[in-house]
Amino acid sequence: MFAIREFVGSTPGPRLLITGGVHGDEFEPIAVIQRLITGFSEKSELNGTLTLVPIVNEAAFLRGHRVAAEDGLDLARTFPGSADGSLTERVADQLAGMIQQSDFYIDLHTGGTEISVLPMTGYMLHSDESVLAKQRDMARAFGIPFIWGTSAGLDGRSMSAARDADVPAIYAEYLGSATCSDAGIEAYFDGCLNVMAAIGMLTDFVPKPVGEIEVVEDNSEASGHMQLCHPAPFAGLFYPEVELGESVSENAILGTVVDFTGETSGNIIAEKSGRVVVLRTFPRVREGDSCGVIA
Ligand SMILES: [Zn+2]
Repeated sequence: MFAIREFVGSTPGPRLLITGGVHGDEFEPIAVIQRLITGFSEKSELNGTLTLVPIVNEAAFLRGHRVAAEDGLDLARTFPGSADGSLTERVADQLAGMIQQSDFYIDLHTGGTEISVLPMTGYMLHSDESVLAKQRDMARAFGIPFIWGTSAGLDGRSMSAARDADVPAIYAEYLGSATCSDAGIEAYFDGCLNVMAAIGMLTDFVPKPVGEIEVVEDNSEASGHMQLCHPAPFAGLFYPEVELGESVSENAILGTVVDFTGETSGNIIAEKSGRVVVLRTFPRVREGDSCGVIA
């Protein structure tokens, strides 16, 4: 259903799965997994098995869009999927099966076309302490200086499929706005190798030192539910008034939405104090579209 490359080391070790392109308009993850494929094709000295999927959602990628046209379903809300369902449901089913057979899982994302996300790694606050501890270790090892642990109750995601199989898993986000930035590729490349070293898959690899890391863990039900935060009151243009990463207080104005004629405008008000971790960069908003997220 999608292209897979597997590298089996000469010595036993964990099975790590790394995926990109769950959303079809997120390009740094695809580029970095291509780079990993090239690297391990030339020199596959590793312990265990590395499975790489550069583009999970090929139909969405070909369309240059977050989701496939066939069914319009968000793959990251469709897990565990169904073997005899629609295209996106079948993709979810296949990937869920691969996640279940892994010992560790990394899912790489960006904000896609319409939003920009503060570079971060994240995980679900798993009810099993040993799984949660491994996820915390993976996220720290990855090396991006912001870590967001969110509600274990969210369903439909690749992270939910991992949670249900007790497979330690993290995801990563790195800006977006339909770019393919060198900085994002570098950060993700280092991050994947750092995690591989941390779980014992690379023997001669010396990870770059990791600087200070900010960790936010929030077990409230809606945490991590980016689509619902700070919705646009009506369709129109969104003008942000804050920067990605900025700290804001409750009731601060995050930005303004103006309608088609420009005659009506509405402020987007911060629902809580915290850091702006997601910000809409694509000016067009439809009613209910998220304009930003505060962690
Ligand atoms: Zn994504």
